[in-house]
Amino acid sequence: MKIGSVVPEKLLLRRMTSTNPAFDAPIFETTIQRMVEAKGVGLHSGVPVSIRILPAPAGTGIIFTRTDLDRFEIPASWQYVQRVSYATSLMRQGVLISTTEHLLSVFYSMGIDNAYIEIDNLEVPILDGSGAPFVSLIRQAGSKTLRKRRRYLRIRKPVQVEGAGKCIRIEPADHFALSCHVYFPHPHVGRQSLEMRVTPDAYARDIAPARTFGFEQELQQMRDMGLIRGATLDSAVCFAPDGVRNPDGLRFPDEPCRHKALDLIGDLALIGRPLLGHVIAERAGHAMHVALVAKIMSDASLYDIVEAPQPAAEAETAVPVLAARALA
Ligand SMILES: [Zn+2]
Repeated sequence: MKIGSVVPEKLLLRRMTSTNPAFDAPIFETTIQRMVEAKGVGLHSGVPVSIRILPAPAGTGIIFTRTDLDRFEIPASWQYVQRVSYATSLMRQGVLISTTEHLLSVFYSMGIDNAYIEIDNLEVPILDGSGAPFVSLIRQAGSKTLRKRRRYLRIRKPVQVEGAGKCIRIEPADHFALSCHVYFPHPHVGRQSLEMRVTPDAYARDIAPARTFGFEQELQQMRDMGLIRGATLDSAVCFAPDGVRNPDGLRFPDEPCRHKALDLIGDLALIGRPLLGHVIAERAGHAMHVALVAKIMSDASLYDIVEAPQPAAEAETAVPVLAARALA
């Protein structure tokens, strides 16, 4: 090819993906190796709940199964987002799964594409308020590579949702990255920011241990709304006007910002595919996160579905992979 000649977009993409110097994300779909389980209470409902996480075949995604309701299934998809305020809930045909964001954040960040989550009540257990217990569970379960190549959702154009001094935006990128900025007028919080490329190791170390948090002066109002019935100092950080109520203090000086990143990833997971894009969130919450997801998914000109390339050893003889929306 002559220098300066026009390269058709598809050809360019084919060359990029078949030799693949830029693509360093996982190539094959995954599930877990063996069943794992946990018990706890729901943060908001306070009800006792058990979950079992089981392997699932390629192409399944993450599916919740209500074992107390005839094994009714609710896929972890933006299409089933129901009520979003202090937590993200999914609903299908009147059946609810509440507070999905921590568990889904862990699956998404740890690169588990397919699993069944059996659950015997309406809310995912809060455990210690962070993603760390779910990371331990998934590590205990082990990861299994499946024979289907991953299909990524790659952002093509910037997309933004804003309002009331809050904003969330996604920009094109060849990997999944976050910038997260929060502000809470409290002497132990204030303004906090983080930027990261989301990889399983970085997530497990820097994000997963960050716990749910609340401010003491707001707790009664939340209880009056029927929320946080399961909250204790073992499942959340409580900021009092003069400090932190939890006897062991914070896990990170900027634990609130890290937890907001955890929640954000859990809501982005409702896209249902791994993401290639850079998300910038400024004081955004669940409602704004899912509004961004809905905006992306309702306009096919904003993204491509890109199949991961052949592994290098196979690429020489195999037909190169094209990105095509038809794959979705
Ligand atoms: Zn949370």
